[in-house]
Amino acid sequence: MIIMESNVTRAPNTDPFTTQEGPVISEEASLISQEAPKTKGVSLMNGKVVKCVKETHDTWSLDIDVGAENLDYIAGQFISIDPKQFPELERWARFLEKLKGKREVVRAYSLASAPHEPYLTITVKAEEYWDEEDPYPPLLSPLLGSDLLMDRAIEVQGYTGHYVLPEDIESKTEQVLHMVAGSGIVPNWALLKDDLENNRFPSLKHTMIYTNKTFGDIIYRDALFAMAEKYKERFELINLITREEDPAVHGPNFFKGRPSTEFVSRYVSDASTLRVYACGAAITKYAKKKAKETGVPATPRFMEGVASILKDLEIDRKRFKKEVYG
Ligand SMILES: Cc1cc2nc3c(=O)[nH]c(=O)nc-3n(C[C@H](O)[C@H](O)[C@H](O)COP(=O)(O)OP(=O)(O)OC[C@H]3O[C@@H](n4cnc5c(N)ncnc54)[C@H](O)[C@@H]3O)c2cc1C
Repeated sequence: MIIMESNVTRAPNTDPFTTQEGPVISEEASLISQEAPKTKGVSLMNGKVVKCVKETHDTWSLDIDVGAENLDYIAGQFISIDPKQFPELERWARFLEKLKGKREVVRAYSLASAPHEPYLTITVKAEEYWDEEDPYPPLLSPLLGSDLLMDRAIEVQGYTGHYVLPEDIESKTEQVLHMVAGSGIVPNWALLKDDLENNRFPSLKHTMIYTNKTFGDIIYRDALFAMAEKYKERFELINLITREEDPAVHGPNFFKGRPSTEFVSRYVSDASTLRVYACGAAITKYAKKKAKETGVPATPRFMEGVASILKDLEIDRKRFKKEVYG
């Protein structure tokens, strides 16, 4: 059944192929489903791209109007987008399907917006194609990570995901540690806005350790710094920069390098109750497969580093939620 509501069409999702492969969502869901707030299920919505903002040299945010009556999601959830809906990608998708010998499925995008905001916002990094390493070029992100879809229709499927703050979080902890890298900030930005702008969990303190290659790669930079200033009693922002000689020139909360156990523990008040929300790149399933075939171990990425730090800090899996983009 299709329900027409203003400019938005919602229909139950029954397509078995519209699921992105790869994310660690099902494993997460089994651990946290008991404390995750209830969602209304997944529907298809016809929206329109009403704003495109260039965040960094390779990353854009798109505001999507799906109608005010359809904003029934929880901060931290994601939507899925089918690349084959765009006429300019349809032939490429079929060509890639032939090369790969399998269907091109939907891609997941975390919502950067919080439910009190008028539009759905996604923030997309246009993936590169490194022809020495990558067997195929990226299909969807170069189109979304641009302003090419301005004023265009877009069908999105949502809402999904358990990367959300449970309603009873204040009874469990006083501190949430956000460990994010690059575009991994997207769902955590939604969590921060939802709590701080609505004062939902007044006793909760947020500490974000945000890793980027350079100052110019910091997504939502001005808004993020303004948020840290405005809510300084409740939100501390720590920036780690990996590819600059002296990041301290950018301010007192800038440090050089990647997160380490010693560095992270400086910002943890009580590891025995801490809740961690970590998002960023991990070793991809393709890299894992290649490692198995060649016997050469895959290079650990951001999320493998986070897992090792949290193990050192004895943060058990029930207190650690992760969203993996690799
Ligand atoms: C829950 C979730 C939330 C996400 N949120 C965001 C977000 O907020 N912002 C964001 O930018 N991204 C996000 N992502 C990542 C996003 O879903 C896409 O994976 C990303 O945009 C790349 O999609 P693409 O179509 O451009 O590339 P793809 O076409 O998927 O290709 C990506 C890479 O995989 C390789 N590849 C593809 N198929 C094969 C194959 N069969 N064998 C070997 N290698 C292959 C390609 O060579 C390429 O290097 C999220 C992912 C998840 C799971």
